[in-house]
This record gives sequence, C-alpha cells and structure tokens, in this order.
Amino acid sequence: MKALVKYGKGENDIELREIPEPIPQRNEVKVKVEATGICGTDLYGYSALKPPVVLGHETAGIVVEVGEEVKNIKVGDRVTTETTAYICGQCKFCQSKDYNLCIYRKGLGSAVNGAFAEYFAIRKESIHQIPPHIDFNSASLFEPLSCATHAVIEQANLLPHEIVLVLGPGPLGLLTAQIAKSLGARVIICGIEGDEKRLSTAKKLGINQIFNIKKKDIKNYLSKLTVEYGVDVVFECSGSAEAVEYGLNLIRKGGRYIQEGIIHQPIQLRFDQILFDKELSIIGSRTQKPSSWDKAINLVNEGKVNLKELVSGVLPLSNWKEGFGRAKKKNSIKIVLQPDK
Ligand SMILES: [Zn+2]
Ligand SMILES: [Zn+2]
Repeated sequence: MKALVKYGKGENDIELREIPEPIPQRNEVKVKVEATGICGTDLYGYSALKPPVVLGHETAGIVVEVGEEVKNIKVGDRVTTETTAYICGQCKFCQSKDYNLCIYRKGLGSAVNGAFAEYFAIRKESIHQIPPHIDFNSASLFEPLSCATHAVIEQANLLPHEIVLVLGPGPLGLLTAQIAKSLGARVIICGIEGDEKRLSTAKKLGINQIFNIKKKDIKNYLSKLTVEYGVDVVFECSGSAEAVEYGLNLIRKGGRYIQEGIIHQPIQLRFDQILFDKELSIIGSRTQKPSSWDKAINLVNEGKVNLKELVSGVLPLSNWKEGFGRAKKKNSIKIVLQPDK
C-alpha cells in the first residue's frame, strides 16, 4: 500500500513509499483510511517522533478486519481513534488512564505507523465510533478536538462566567474557542497579520470577539471589558514564543495560563512577576486521554462544536506535498488527505 513515511528528523525527510499493509494483532483493529488531517506535528515534528514511521494521527475510516480478542467493533464500522497505540499498562499514569503521560507510551503516526496510508492498525481500546451525522473529513478532527477538550475542561476547569483569551486562530485555537464558548464563557480569539481567514471563521462560528492584535489595541479593549483586572484564562494555541509573555501580561491576578501549542525553543520569563506578584497558575496540556474523547464526542453529539467549518481543503494522499504546503499557510485551516481512489 502507499504510505507517507517520515524517514529522518529533518523537516523534508518525508516521502511516499510502497509498504506492506498492517496485520492486526489479537487485540487490534485494521482500519481502511477515509480521511487524515495534517497536524503541525506532521509539519514541524515534536519530541515523540521516532522515524522511520508513517505519519498521520488525526484520522477516520472504516473497519476492515478485527483481531480475535476484539468484541463490540465490527467490520464496516465507521470509526476514529485515539492516538495511543501502546501503553505500559503498569505505571501510575496508566492506572488512572492518563495515557498521555505514560512514559512508555507510543503514539500513532509518531512512534507507530500512522494513517497517511491506505490502512493502519491500532489497539481496540483506542477506537471510537463516529456519530452517524458526521462525515469522515469532519471526523478526522476528533483528535484535535479531544486535545482542546483536555485543555479547556480537564486542565483549565473552565467556569461558565469566565473571560477567556485564545491566542492563535489555527485549528486548535478555533476548537478551544468553540468549547469555551459552549461552556458559557466569554471568548476573545486573536491572531496576527495573515490570520484574516481564520479570524473570519471564528466570527462565523459565533466566537464573541475576534482581534488582529497588530491592527487593534487589545489591551484597551480588555481593560474596559474586565474593569482593568485582566482575563481569567489564557489558552496559548499558536506555539509562538512571543505569544507566551503577551498572554501572561493580559491575565488577571490569580488567573490561569494553559499551554496547548508546542513551543520548539527555550524562552525567558520573569517568574517573580508571573508567579509571585500575580499568583498565576501555569498549566500544561499534552494531547488527550480516554476521558477527553468521551467529552469531545458528547460535545459533537450535542451540536456544540462545528468541525466541518474547519476543513478548508481535501486532497489525495499522492498530492501530500501540496497539502503540506497549504497546511503551512495561514489562509487555510485544516487540510485533509484521502488515500487515492
Ligand atoms: Zn495532531
Ligand atoms: Zn504506563
């Protein structure tokens, strides 16, 4: 089968190769891929990436084969999957199903062959059924939605009356903003030059306020809105080092800062001003775990988030270079690849 292989750590060490189809183990499910979204980690890498590996972890497809231990999942089921491909099952984190923190965890499309291919295989526990009203392209966004759900509901414990600032209107930011709004928070999302399309999508999705921070003074707006206190919670979704300090400065005393984007370089911060003077809580949010998926699927079933609006391009897998190129540009949102028919 055709598969997109990352064969080295370099940004361009990627090629389409012919490899054997996966054979599902006793507890695994083999899925025929219908749609797989391009993630920032496919474009820029991250620490868990172990080449050579087939990329792709935001995916949806149809079950074509199940191992002998698999019950309740049948050939023909429309499914999506958690990215947890292997866990130790023994550690403190596995005991509480915080699989995203298991030291021995292996992820789909980073350490285990992923879904930019015609087929992939994964442990049965990671499989989730796609709600009937959701198409495959939209369903490929369940993974980033679960990451955003983990951040907003499980890490920030967001409250309905809170004022939220989301930095970065990419797919993760737009999902985060939608979840926060669905919980009853007042949500402001901001971007910079080039983000116009993404910000107008945010507006379409009903986010309370959009801001191009290079064009309009957000400090002034926020100080009126919050009677000079600052926002309750900042979600950093851009992965830009500059955004960190920018966001920290806009939070009220005692507020929360949640890091969702991946920042690839070291940054310097004045911890006396952040932790001592302001008593801020700085919280990390790493991918997703089973509880995040259950909540994310509920949000979709209740009609509280729109996934379809975020799919801005669909291309055949053979055209992956164009897809990756478009995914790097800010005038697109989520680019999805489909195996060639
Ligand atoms: Zn991803
Ligand atoms: Zn473990």
